[in-house]
Amino acid sequence: MTKILDIAQVGHPVLREPTMELSLETLAHKETQLFIDELIATMRAANGAGLAANQVHRSLRICVIEVLDNPRYPYRPNIPLTVLVNPILTPVGNDTFENYEGCLSVPNLRGKVQRHCEIDVTALDRHGNPIKTRVKGMTAATYQHEVDHLLGMLFLDRVKDSRSLVTWDNFERYHQAQVAETVKQLVSRYGS
Ligand code: ZN
Repeated sequence: MTKILDIAQVGHPVLREPTMELSLETLAHKETQLFIDELIATMRAANGAGLAANQVHRSLRICVIEVLDNPRYPYRPNIPLTVLVNPILTPVGNDTFENYEGCLSVPNLRGKVQRHCEIDVTALDRHGNPIKTRVKGMTAATYQHEVDHLLGMLFLDRVKDSRSLVTWDNFERYHQAQVAETVKQLVSRYGS
């Protein structure tokens, strides 16, 4: 049975420290591989769209991403399970969009942040194989959110208008219908 880990909450210093890059040797280590399994299991148990290692108190440059008909984000397109080790993101072009984000480390609060529409991704997968890909739309936003964590940032740092902050209940009540519409347009433009 894979262990479910505790998720650090905003205010914990581990969320503010840039994480440590992994060598291929450290990545291949049995203990690191087990940790990646635990990170995935913890993301799934919490219905997260992604989870970064420092969110479970390990300052390593690893994050996991997956969206499969997520009940926390019913309007979001699916993303297959992805493990990113030492990821580097490079924006493609200058187009951005406004994304309403939440975070497992920020209880019951969501807010609007600007995200790049397209990004190039360089990383390793969990086996040390190079990943080179371009992601777009909501998927690109999720990648940016998770890699921010690995650099010691939270989405709160990027909220320009604090009036956009809402509880999850009020998001559902007052904002979700409109956001779902915006996401639908984004998905039809970018396919993800
Ligand atoms: Zn987060």
